[in-house]
Amino acid sequence: MCTSLLNEIVHNPPPISNFMVTTERKKWNLRSRESSMYGTEKAKDPFPISRSKLEQCHSCRRCFWLDRVKGIGKPGIPGFLLNTLVDTLLKREFDAHREAGTPHPYMVQNGLGHMVPLDHPMMDEWRENFKGVRAPKHGLMLTGAVDDIWKSGEGDTEEWYVVDYKSTASNAEITAELFLEDIYKGGYVRQMAIYQWLLRELGHPVSTRGFFVYENGNNDAESLLGEGTDESVRGIPLKPALVIEIDIANDDVIIEGERIDLDWVENLVISAKNCLDTDSVPDAGEFCEHCAYVEARSKF
Ligand code: SF4
Repeated sequence: MCTSLLNEIVHNPPPISNFMVTTERKKWNLRSRESSMYGTEKAKDPFPISRSKLEQCHSCRRCFWLDRVKGIGKPGIPGFLLNTLVDTLLKREFDAHREAGTPHPYMVQNGLGHMVPLDHPMMDEWRENFKGVRAPKHGLMLTGAVDDIWKSGEGDTEEWYVVDYKSTASNAEITAELFLEDIYKGGYVRQMAIYQWLLRELGHPVSTRGFFVYENGNNDAESLLGEGTDESVRGIPLKPALVIEIDIANDDVIIEGERIDLDWVENLVISAKNCLDTDSVPDAGEFCEHCAYVEARSKF
């Protein structure tokens, strides 16, 4: 960034925007919309279950059942808007290459120059939250919004690759191995398998190879004012992007002791349906801290 511009910002900072007055504070409530509760008269058939609800069923059947059958959802948390912004910028960049039919520089730099972002009439819908890829199976409508899909080949050799954009700020080197070891990143592999399964259910030529485009914050950056360009003087300080490949056909894709592959997804869908059909409250997941916390404090 040019020095004169930096001085201008330091000595004449832009005005702080007006305070926003919060007039209403939202209380937690039981969900009352019957259509979103399994087993009610108004519930949709097949009943929709999103990728994140499948993940919830995997980690705790009790929470999943309370949420989807009884309307008792966990309190929400604020969104990670800086991460969302990075996703939005990546989407914009990849969309420009989708339109041009060219590989994005990240693809070329990672030996994937033979691929291009997939240009498909459903692409926008598949990426939209609350729409996404939708596949009916086992009495449910499974849904999930992908970040991107890349494509290689044409005709008989055409293959699609699920792509997920991620952003973090870590000093650790992000590798495929780390995904298999880190309990939080392990969830990303499950997510990848679910998206691959969904698109395959619709008959698309989806590879078991998938990619994470990883933007990593630069913890060594000295100042938010020291990065960016003249046009966008306060750019987000990022390290060079990483593209990490996972192939769920590999036998070493084991997360928390479980082999994650397309059969694992199929079994999870069946298990989710069985859980919804259960009449009594299922057991709580082993590792969640919340119920243990509530139980401890309820003794007083
Ligand atoms: S253990 Fe955690 S995830 Fe399970 S029901 Fe309790 S709060 Fe929900």
